Amino acid sequence: MPIRPENRDRYPADWDAISLDIRTNRAAGRCECLGECGRGTHIGRCPNLNGSQAYGTGSKVVLTVAHLNHTPEDCDPANLRAMCQACHNSYDAPHRRETRRRTRAAALAAAGQTSLPIGDDLAI
Ligand SMILES: [Zn+2]
Ligand SMILES: [Zn+2]
Repeated sequence: MPIRPENRDRYPADWDAISLDIRTNRAAGRCECLGECGRGTHIGRCPNLNGSQAYGTGSKVVLTVAHLNHTPEDCDPANLRAMCQACHNSYDAPHRRETRRRTRAAALAAAGQTSLPIGDDLAI
């Protein structure tokens, strides 16, 4: 997943090297997801290999590195997991939803309005 500009300074300066090391040396180019993504499409470790066709969709796999606790500053190898884009997207989805909800609530509060729970899930 591309790093969002507002989050770029939360990553260490050597993030590119850390990410490359995880993807190539530890993961050997293969998605390390063991089902944390919740997709339910693979049993055991995800078979997707960087640069090859993804099972199911046939699109090209681009291996990324996920932070399991969604904290970019925490680059302990135990917190990092090489993931194909499908697993990564799925793994991050609940966190992204929550971040959007908080951003909306803060914007409403700043505008002097109270946030309403109605329609919260419709604006995703
Ligand atoms: Zn995967
Ligand atoms: Zn997965």
